[in-house]
Amino acid sequence: MAGLPEHKRLLLGYPVNMVTPPEAFFAWRRELALVGLDQFAFNNVGDPYEHSHIEFNSHAFERELITRFAALYRFSADDTWGFLSNSGTDSNMHGLYMGRKLLTGRAGVPPKIYFTAEAHYSIQILADLLGLERVEVGTEVDGRMSADSLGLSLAEHADHPALVVATVGTTFKGAVDSVDEIQAALIGREAYLHVDAALFGGYLPHTAFADELAQRAGGASRYDSIAVSCHKFFGFPSPAGIYICTRAAFDEFRAHFSQVHNPEYLLQVPGTITCSRDAVKPAEFWFFSSREAFARQRADAKQILSDASYLYGAMKTRFPELEPIRANALSNTVYFKKPSDEVVSTYTLATMKLRRDGAQVPYAHVVVMPHATRAVLDQFLSDLGRAG
Ligand SMILES: *Cc1c(COP(=O)(O)O)cnc(C)c1O
Repeated sequence: MAGLPEHKRLLLGYPVNMVTPPEAFFAWRRELALVGLDQFAFNNVGDPYEHSHIEFNSHAFERELITRFAALYRFSADDTWGFLSNSGTDSNMHGLYMGRKLLTGRAGVPPKIYFTAEAHYSIQILADLLGLERVEVGTEVDGRMSADSLGLSLAEHADHPALVVATVGTTFKGAVDSVDEIQAALIGREAYLHVDAALFGGYLPHTAFADELAQRAGGASRYDSIAVSCHKFFGFPSPAGIYICTRAAFDEFRAHFSQVHNPEYLLQVPGTITCSRDAVKPAEFWFFSSREAFARQRADAKQILSDASYLYGAMKTRFPELEPIRANALSNTVYFKKPSDEVVSTYTLATMKLRRDGAQVPYAHVVVMPHATRAVLDQFLSDLGRAG
């Protein structure tokens, strides 16, 4: 693994922030170690909002970080529940399981799950795991969910409730499914809306596009649950995920969940699928929810959007033959026809075949994360030119 630290800034193809967290984060870790965290068996088993029979946990940090992020996503303070999960996928799993239980309880039949081909592959796995019948919704040219297609699909499956996954920041194209359009299509339907904002959920609340992820607007609820990865935008050193839902959705879920298993052993209905849960990560990730951390995230958000715009502009001018695309102004992703294998390898670019004029054409993308500074992007542009 020698040499890896120097090369980490050149990783442009995947949505991970390769900037090492500030020294204060490592000092915080040492402080946590002094009280025993990560030194002996702490466990966050259970619902962080319930009294815990086992005191060696970090539920207080977990609740506080959920409260702080919930405020960013404009959840109502008295209508919030959540926990720190293992990953974005784990958070998606809780959202989909919650939606499935709650809708089955209301309608007496399980929901069908609606998502597009641009949704993350974890959604396909989870739909399979939960035995949910999939309805594939079509997309617009930019890759976002088509409201017309959603409307048609909903009408076709009117006899089942709808569990809809909105992806705010699709993995390859950076497209944004519109929560407002989806809500409009769902009027009059028994439905649950889960928002998968694994990457964009980290930075959008700090930008002019914060409304996109607001849980409440004009007094109305816009979605039921949200999933955000901690290791993507935030640069948390190992996988973890934020999961937040409304307290109303959680309480309804919990009533059904308590019938699934016997809560006697723990003296509570845990609320999470997994029993033992990591206590170290919530205490560590709490560091990323302070006022100063949010200020750093605001600066990073500004930088990545402005650098994505810089990269897109430069590529359009200098490499029009690569046909670069940036799906929208909220996106830090630029995708383009796959350059040489050498460039793909040097910058660890993710590649994917996209349909163009009836053919499958190989594409690559750059996800502009905080480590991808102008200097790194300029080096990338110059290597693109050399290879061209
Ligand atoms: C990365 C990603 C996921 C999966 O998140 P993990 O934290 O890697 O499990 C889910 N959805 C989207 C849109 C993603 O980009």
